[in-house]
Amino acid sequence: MSYCTNIDCLHPQNSDSSGFCNSCSQKLLLKQRYRTLAVIGHGGFGRTFLAIDEHLPTQPKCAIKQLCFPKENTEVWHKAVSVSSSNLV
Ligand SMILES: [Zn+2]
Repeated sequence: MSYCTNIDCLHPQNSDSSGFCNSCSQKLLLKQRYRTLAVIGHGGFGRTFLAIDEHLPTQPKCAIKQLCFPKENTEVWHKAVSVSSSNLV
């Protein structure tokens, strides 16, 4: 299954081979490489997806973090960037 990353998508579940979401028409292959399979977590700043890297022959699994917050709330945006940056090693 391919999972659409559009936060407003009403039917985000698509078939494995779909290139575009059947519901909202968004591209399903991020950076023409990563296919999101399912939401594995969500919190105050966004969602985390289980994905596969289709660019590599073994198609290893990986996690993709999607930051989501109101555009008009710059305080939340700055805090999200700060927390995300501190988690980078
Ligand atoms: Zn969609």
